[in-house]
Amino acid sequence: MQLHLTTEAMSEQERSVCDEIAAAEDELVELVRRLIRFDTTTHTAGEPPREEAALQAHLGERLREAGAAVQVSEPDPALVAGHRMIPDGFTFAGRPQLVGRFAGTGGGRSLLLNGHVDVVDPGPSDGWAHDPFGAVVADGLVHGRGSCDMKGGVACMVLAAEMLASLGIRLAGDLVVNTVTEEESTGAGGLVSARTLRADAAIVPEPTGLGVWIACRGSLLPTITVEGRAGHAGIAPRRPDDGGAVNAIEKMAVVLEAIRRLREHWALRERHPYLSAADVGPTIIGGGEWIVSHPASCRLACHIEYLPEQADAEGWGSAVEQEFTDWVRRATAADPWLAAHPPRIDWTVGGVPPAAVAPDHPVVVAALSAARAVGRQSQIGGLDNWHDGATLTVEAGIPAICLGPGDIHLAHTVSECVPIADLIACTQALAVAAMRFCGVSAG
Ligand SMILES: [Zn+2]
Repeated sequence: MQLHLTTEAMSEQERSVCDEIAAAEDELVELVRRLIRFDTTTHTAGEPPREEAALQAHLGERLREAGAAVQVSEPDPALVAGHRMIPDGFTFAGRPQLVGRFAGTGGGRSLLLNGHVDVVDPGPSDGWAHDPFGAVVADGLVHGRGSCDMKGGVACMVLAAEMLASLGIRLAGDLVVNTVTEEESTGAGGLVSARTLRADAAIVPEPTGLGVWIACRGSLLPTITVEGRAGHAGIAPRRPDDGGAVNAIEKMAVVLEAIRRLREHWALRERHPYLSAADVGPTIIGGGEWIVSHPASCRLACHIEYLPEQADAEGWGSAVEQEFTDWVRRATAADPWLAAHPPRIDWTVGGVPPAAVAPDHPVVVAALSAARAVGRQSQIGGLDNWHDGATLTVEAGIPAICLGPGDIHLAHTVSECVPIADLIACTQALAVAAMRFCGVSAG
């Protein structure tokens, strides 16, 4: 707590809210621990739900008691069916989504606080110093899967909203608390939010270490297939135009080299202020049918990360798909076989959009000033990887930024934890940001 450094930056009312939050440290820590103990390992196709419904019911009950109008329900899968992020046959069975609305008095901007309650699989337990679902508190940290990504952040946003309500702070705009599943898998929960909720801006408390992230990269997952011509690998080769064998793995080497050069090309482009350069690399390769045959086919999967500036008019990656396709076509056109048998590029698997919010947007100003008011040296930054906020920004036009507790580098690791000091500061910052963004009604 460094409130003595920051009293000038806060109003009397903001300071009293922050003091009450600091005094509620035990309640906040217990809420994070409670959330970690629910096994909400993310949706894997065909696997039954875990304890998502129990967690959402618990939060729903709390928010209802605090005065919010709460809905916890399994959305109709038709809401998201056919979207490129959503696999065929997807449903929300056993995985409800939560919306809790604290109605404003009117005339203010509405703010959405969105967080995901699913976590990635903890993996083999022998790598963990603490039980991943044990929520052990030690050395000023709460340990466990989801502690920073992002049940810590979810606890902060829930407690911030509850605290404003219980202290009788009447916001002018609506404050909407929204917890979703699927962020670590399909992104379907965030997509439902984008399709059903409206707000003037959103804050997603992913683990920013109390920084303010305003941008993230998007991704694409092309699969390239190169055809060759099968033949006996043990006899002397004939010319391809005489019907000789063509080794598809060797032909894929031409494509691999083109992709390596595209990565160099993108790395040398103008630097983004908050994000790493666009990137592309091979991630899976497979080819060949028999150890004594020239392979007739080779497949290569790639992972592309691209910048908001490369997005098309809809905010997605069609321009990047075209650039990648043209690049591979040009590189392979010099090879007579590949010129006659162009590589096939399939874009149908996955992909998520990049997003960016203007640094002078009111939600950025509110979040940054709030984080600094509670004593942090917060800066504007970005996350190289996608999060649900990008879906809100791109699909719903709700500018979404991140401000949350903990270190993103511990997310998905066996050392995942969140500092209790961050939990308190984040809860304070979210409450102050909501007051500044939504406005406080005098009456
Ligand atoms: Zn996350």
